[in-house]
Amino acid sequence: MLIKNIHQLVGQTPIIELQIPVPNQSRIFAKLEMFNPGGSIKDRLGQFLISDAWQRNLINQNSTIIEPTAGNTGIGLALAAQQYKLPTILVVPEKFSAEKQQLMKALGATIINTPSSEGIKGAISKAKALAAEIENSYLPMQFANPANPETYYQTLAPEIVKDLKNEKIDAFVAGAGSGGTFAGIAKYLSEYDATIKNIVVEPEGSILNGGPAHAHRTEGIGVEFVPPFFESIHIDKTLTISDDSAFQQVRYVAENLGLFIGSSSGAALAASLQMAETLPPQSNIVTIFPDSSERYMSTNIYGN
Ligand code: PMP
Repeated sequence: MLIKNIHQLVGQTPIIELQIPVPNQSRIFAKLEMFNPGGSIKDRLGQFLISDAWQRNLINQNSTIIEPTAGNTGIGLALAAQQYKLPTILVVPEKFSAEKQQLMKALGATIINTPSSEGIKGAISKAKALAAEIENSYLPMQFANPANPETYYQTLAPEIVKDLKNEKIDAFVAGAGSGGTFAGIAKYLSEYDATIKNIVVEPEGSILNGGPAHAHRTEGIGVEFVPPFFESIHIDKTLTISDDSAFQQVRYVAENLGLFIGSSSGAALAASLQMAETLPPQSNIVTIFPDSSERYMSTNIYGN
């Protein structure tokens, strides 16, 4: 395949039918989003946010992009902003992996760290304050921008339907950070087939199931407030997965399938396996693996 630039490789990722024992003779299909050029599902968002803002004249060649992010959105945005030669400032709570922050810097972005104790809310406030100070700045605000779920509604969801055109889809299982991935895909799949069950995944310490917010090791998912995008979609179930269960799956698929997945993928797999126990036999479950373990080596993801 001859390409002219790396941006052409965003999207059209493979989907794998996992060759592992699944309860009730069900099958699990996982979209491998680590195969995007910036290494995660959020390259799609970066590309969409920048081109959307450009088309709507919200930015021009003199704009500065500012965004609060756990990391992958920052990489996706920095990659897309580079194409338009726009300076980018990313506000990242310091707890997020060093690899992600190094990649953002390598792409030319400026990183501003906020205290881990303030969580993503602290990063959001800081990004807003910077945007108020810096002239001609643009804050895409993934946590509230309808372009976020729209990205996945327009790109990833139709790919799933096309990839699995010969299969009935019974359930869709995915994690939520900003909630954009889950909301966009759940909306598309519900329109495609209203019988598909939508199951959202969160780590312990996230508030969807009503628990108090606290720190967790699973990175990229977990919310401190209910994503606004969830108002317009139907959610059948919220599964809360412990860090231990997520990391166990991370190790399991490396050892058995040669697949390097991050902890949010591990949580999605743990939740998919749990769902297989309650869904009718021979159900087809679709899930998303947002990124790879390779950007979490400094967090000792394999525990060795
Ligand atoms: N997994 C990882 C590794 C991520 O970086 C993100 C984005 N924060 C997600 C899952 C969740 O995606 P979303 O923000 O669309 O809910």
